[in-house]
Amino acid sequence: MRHLIAGNWKMHGTLAGVAAYAAAIKAAPDHADMLICPPFPLIEPFARALAGSGVAVGAQDCHGAAQGAHTGDVHASLLREAGAAYVILGHSERREAHGETNAHVQAKVQAAVAAGLTPIVCVGESQAQRDAGEAAHVVKSQLIHSLPADFTGVVAYEPIWAIGTGLTPTEDDVAAMHGAIRAALIAHLGEAGAMVKILYGGSVKPSNAASLLAVPEVAGALVGGASLKPEDLLAIAAAAPRG
Ligand code: PEP
Repeated sequence: MRHLIAGNWKMHGTLAGVAAYAAAIKAAPDHADMLICPPFPLIEPFARALAGSGVAVGAQDCHGAAQGAHTGDVHASLLREAGAAYVILGHSERREAHGETNAHVQAKVQAAVAAGLTPIVCVGESQAQRDAGEAAHVVKSQLIHSLPADFTGVVAYEPIWAIGTGLTPTEDDVAAMHGAIRAALIAHLGEAGAMVKILYGGSVKPSNAASLLAVPEVAGALVGGASLKPEDLLAIAAAAPRG
């Protein structure tokens, strides 16, 4: 399985910065897939700037409905039309700050797939849940309730306590959780569950990428802070195992 290195720009970036970033990221290594997920208004300029480069563009959210009276929201077909190929869904920052439930996430997944987007569905436990020994149970429950039974797409395991903190789980902890996620995916989706890419996200940077990306069942990374510098995202992609 080729590794996917996905940059989540969150609420950063400007129109003026797209051209230089796109020019730099086009030097992507050819043994890994790369993806940039900027704020909505930068999707179309990025898609134009990266056309033909092999680096894909994605969004950070979409609505669960095809269209309608939803002020401030964006539907999945419009994202596709703007040039997005992927969409991040159920990121913990959206689950926390926007009250997104597993049911919301599942509706968004269905809307995204119907529009031709590949969803990247985020799951992960809080520090308190990990301390209470509930991490695997929480993640499994998020998966079962966020993914429709015919899910196609990508899953990202992002422990909340590792996002933006500089902390990361041990490689053994990542291996254990990715193994549990794989088992849950197969139980929920059948054979198709064996094909789903499972990314790791949470404080991935050039210095820890090689060890995290080499963990069994880690098929790539969802990268927040370090994705803002193209040289860091490229270094992370270069650290992905070959083949
Ligand atoms: C994220 O928010 O998806 C993320 C992984 O952030 P960071 O890499 O900054 O921890």
